[in-house]
Amino acid sequence: MATAAVELTTMKVAQISRPGEGFQVIEREIPKPDAGHVRIKVQACGVCHSDALTVDGLWPGIQYPRIPGHEVAGIIDEVGAGVSAWKKGQRVGVGWHGGHDNTCPECQRGDFRNCRNVKIAGISYDGGYQQYMVAPVEALVSIPDGLNDTDAAPLLCAGLTTYNALRHSGAFPGDLVAVQGIGGLGHLGVQFANKFGYKVAAIGRGPDNAPLAKKLGASLYIDAKATNAAEELQKLGGARVILATAPNSKAMSELVNGLGPNGKLIVIGATFDPIEVTPIQLISGSKSIQGWTAGTPADSEDTLRFAELSGVRPMIETYPLEKAAEAYTRMLSGKAEFRVVLTM
Ligand SMILES: [Zn+2]
Ligand SMILES: [Zn+2]
Repeated sequence: MATAAVELTTMKVAQISRPGEGFQVIEREIPKPDAGHVRIKVQACGVCHSDALTVDGLWPGIQYPRIPGHEVAGIIDEVGAGVSAWKKGQRVGVGWHGGHDNTCPECQRGDFRNCRNVKIAGISYDGGYQQYMVAPVEALVSIPDGLNDTDAAPLLCAGLTTYNALRHSGAFPGDLVAVQGIGGLGHLGVQFANKFGYKVAAIGRGPDNAPLAKKLGASLYIDAKATNAAEELQKLGGARVILATAPNSKAMSELVNGLGPNGKLIVIGATFDPIEVTPIQLISGSKSIQGWTAGTPADSEDTLRFAELSGVRPMIETYPLEKAAEAYTRMLSGKAEFRVVLTM
């Protein structure tokens, strides 16, 4: 008897049926890509703090059920009509920037990162916590051969954000750059800052992360619990840039006085609490505070290429897709070292 190839029609997904109700691992029909879209056989998907927006319903207008995940690495396994630049079998990723409208004032100026109708994978449409995902071509990132899937995935959000914020920070090689927080973002920030040629001051709370920070490329470690971190930075002349990665507004506020002339505090650790700063603190020395959101797929490709060249890699813990709830809880605990990644 001849055996015919049986086409797989269902797949496993970890979805949020309603906000606040946690993950449901179920079978769903494998989706087909529409025109201008591709289907990705997902190999790995990072678990990011921003997935809480979907899990807890914190982003306005999310439609449920929704599958989170915006740190996706996989292989194109089908292309929709009109797709010519991307081929079946190609390794691709999808990061935070899940598409733009090409028509708003920012898009018309080429500033796609700040598109007013930006789409986000896992929020605007189903993300990577599933075996097969459909994505628009505007969201696709080519993954270089030298990076494996589980390393590439977190680089598409945490890596991209730290790399892109630093490379646009105005700091030059040799400048003092501080990275606050040695966690999911910070452990990548320290590595990129070191490879960019900065003098890197890693700032943590307690002595525990000092050896790791040095290993990742920090020139010095400042224990913000035992010392006044701002004063320590001033002893070194003041920081040109402080990359604030730990979501702690009080800790960020305390660092403003560590900036040198023209220094900039770049905020990427997301919280809803206010940062406190006086006008005088900013006026003297022309200091500034700036927020930074991830970047476009082109920025992601730069990030991946740079990581491949320089050896920057995320430190990860992997979980199978079936254990999405456990992986998410682990990420929330803040105890993971340092990025949690689902494998399919
Ligand atoms: Zn993220
Ligand atoms: Zn736009």
